[in-house]
Amino acid sequence: MSLKVTPVEHEICRFYVESSVEGRDPYLVDTLRGECGCPHFQRRLKGSNEFCKHICAAREFELNQHHERLIESKLVSTNDGI
Ligand SMILES: [Zn+2]
Repeated sequence: MSLKVTPVEHEICRFYVESSVEGRDPYLVDTLRGECGCPHFQRRLKGSNEFCKHICAAREFELNQHHERLIESKLVSTNDGI
């Protein structure tokens, strides 16, 4: 299951990632610092170099965005020119 990721307007590397628990507010994720506002991260993972699923979802989103920009910029080709 993939979580919905929404970039925070006018801020880089910050995203709202929906909670997998229905009805909960989305969590604020900072991909640059590798931090998430969810209780699991705050109580258990912070400082451990491990990441929760929200950080992973935001990073995946960010990577896709980056790849899309590269393709749009024509710096890379989608068919490898073969
Ligand atoms: Zn989290």
